[in-house]
Amino acid sequence: MMRAAVLLAPGRLSVVDDWPEPVCGPDQVIVEIRDVGICGTDLGVFNGSRTVPELPWIIGHEAHGQIVEVGADVPPARLGEHVAVEPNYPCRVCGPCRSSAPALCLDRGSLALNLPGLLAERVAVPARYAWTLPDGTSAEDAVCVEPLTVALAAIRRAGLTGTESCLVVGAGALGLLLVHALTGAGHPVAVLEPHAERLAQAVSLGATPAPAGTEFTVAFDTSGSAAGGAGALVQLAPAGRLVLVGVGQQPIPVDNRIVVRRGLTVLGSMIYDHPHDFPTTIDAITRDGLTPGVVVAATFPLDRAQQAFSTAPTRPGKSIITVTSGDVA
Ligand SMILES: [Zn+2]
Ligand SMILES: [Zn+2]
Repeated sequence: MMRAAVLLAPGRLSVVDDWPEPVCGPDQVIVEIRDVGICGTDLGVFNGSRTVPELPWIIGHEAHGQIVEVGADVPPARLGEHVAVEPNYPCRVCGPCRSSAPALCLDRGSLALNLPGLLAERVAVPARYAWTLPDGTSAEDAVCVEPLTVALAAIRRAGLTGTESCLVVGAGALGLLLVHALTGAGHPVAVLEPHAERLAQAVSLGATPAPAGTEFTVAFDTSGSAAGGAGALVQLAPAGRLVLVGVGQQPIPVDNRIVVRRGLTVLGSMIYDHPHDFPTTIDAITRDGLTPGVVVAATFPLDRAQQAFSTAPTRPGKSIITVTSGDVA
């Protein structure tokens, strides 16, 4: 038996100590979870706007930990590794999977959405979705590998070639990670964010508040809001690109006159592609010196998971929950 935070009903989490231990399949590893990050998707599950297959349900999909058991087909040398979990499993047989776009898989297994999540002491994951982290990776950087991968995949799909000026709409954790990665790559970055504290965090990472009337080559919308998306569109230069990363409750009104006359491109960026994007992110942390853990603003013990989730929507930066402690590096 182990401890886990389970969703009992919308808005209500309970920490239990009698959740069944995971069973390690032949191609799986058991990861002892150290920390779990909270993002907008998790909040949708928590508040009930995204429905899950059953209740009680284990939520959380951004995590790192240590391999404590390996399946029969997994090299025993992986025991003890510090890993980040890739929480989306494409089916590998549908059309998008076979045409090199597994992020668009039609039959994806997603931890915390249609498969049990990671907010438990131990979880079984396929060995190839447990990515080895270099020695010395901090807990904060490790727990942010998944959301940084979302940001880096959006930047990759934007097709940046030089030091184009960029606009980031929304400075939640994903917006902050985009700012961190884009400024790290030498792009001038402006941010549109109504929340003063979030804007200040983006500025501390090297962005400037977006000046009205300025034009940008590429805009990333993380807000998913009608105002955010429409605001980004009108600030794009001719031949500019709007990359939609966030998804909100309402559609974004698109002014086709602006899109046509300025020759704009609007593209969506859905998570990341297995198996290339996670190792690319881990390389970027090591080689390019990215420190995604800078967006972590609050750490809660597992006992206070309910408080972590109920305060996350208004707290600037990312909240994380520590599930177990121990050396991982
Ligand atoms: Zn996430
Ligand atoms: Zn598929």
